[in-house]
Amino acid sequence: MKLPPVEYVAPSTVSEAVALLAEHQDEASVLAGGQSLIPLLALRLAHPAVLIDINGIAELSGVSAPNGWVAIGATTREYVAEESATLAAAVPLLAAALPLIGHEAIRSRGTIGGSLAHADPAAELPAVARALDAEFVVRGPAGERVIPAADWFEGYLTTSRRPDELLVQVRFPVAGPGTGFSFQEVARRHGDFAIVGLAASLTLSGAAISDARLAFAGMSDVPLRATDAEDFLVGQRPSASLFDEAARLAADNTDPPADLHGSSDYRKKVAAALVRRGLRAAADNAGERQ
Ligand SMILES: Cc1cc2nc3c(=O)[nH]c(=O)nc-3n(C[C@H](O)[C@H](O)[C@H](O)COP(=O)(O)OP(=O)(O)OC[C@H]3O[C@@H](n4cnc5c(N)ncnc54)[C@H](O)[C@@H]3O)c2cc1C
Repeated sequence: MKLPPVEYVAPSTVSEAVALLAEHQDEASVLAGGQSLIPLLALRLAHPAVLIDINGIAELSGVSAPNGWVAIGATTREYVAEESATLAAAVPLLAAALPLIGHEAIRSRGTIGGSLAHADPAAELPAVARALDAEFVVRGPAGERVIPAADWFEGYLTTSRRPDELLVQVRFPVAGPGTGFSFQEVARRHGDFAIVGLAASLTLSGAAISDARLAFAGMSDVPLRATDAEDFLVGQRPSASLFDEAARLAADNTDPPADLHGSSDYRKKVAAALVRRGLRAAADNAGERQ
């Protein structure tokens, strides 16, 4: 389908982009990789008057590692992040999730900022950001503000970014020693969006779990932390029975949607299975990373 008529602007700096957003507010859409936005335009599900193409803003792209964080520029392509040795060493959970996004052609255009600004609850990166308490740096006419992941995802395809703000960077904390990770998902075919996904991170101090993080994709209209299961795990020693109980707790406290791909009950069963698998895998590689 052809795109509807729309004005197109391509600023070359963040300041220009922010000025354009301030001028056009809700009438504008930011164009990053276009992998979600262009289909929405073609299907007439989005109707912006102006497209602000941020692909030419050099300062928005790149991966760096300042003081205990890995900072990823908003227009960094998903495949560039996937190939980053810095990211793989410092945020292995994110590195594990990236190859599960769509297919190579999509990851070669799709951006880290685009995925997280789009906020599809079935997508991999929102679950990782929520599990790791990532930080979102946005810039607007009044300057910069930093939004914690817990406050970023507000609802289905909805974030706390204001219409005149641009997402410029996302920061993930560096995994500490003894931290294991796993991204698990069930999808109809390789490359499809997950029916249910799970970002899992487990830190072992000696033989006991000192930190546990579990965030689901596909179980709500936002990525969902399983806080009761996380609290239950901390202070305990990893075991099959512990992980069974954590899986039960994590799945019991959800009320997932039903759709063409599966009933609510099916999603709960898949969620419990993914928690068991994810915790087992994370505990195994936590031992290797101590
Ligand atoms: C066939 C197909 C399969 C896919 N499968 C998956 C999958 O399995 N898992 C998955 O996670 N994703 C999947 N995707 C989506 C893909 O990851 C997209 O790249 C991503 O969701 C959007 O990134 P983008 O850079 O293309 O953003 P765009 O499509 O350009 O933008 C998406 C939205 O975010 C806004 N936006 C973008 N950047 C910014 C910014 N810096 N500041 C403010 N707003 C911004 C846009 O205005 C728009 O509303 C798939 C896409 C396709 C076409």
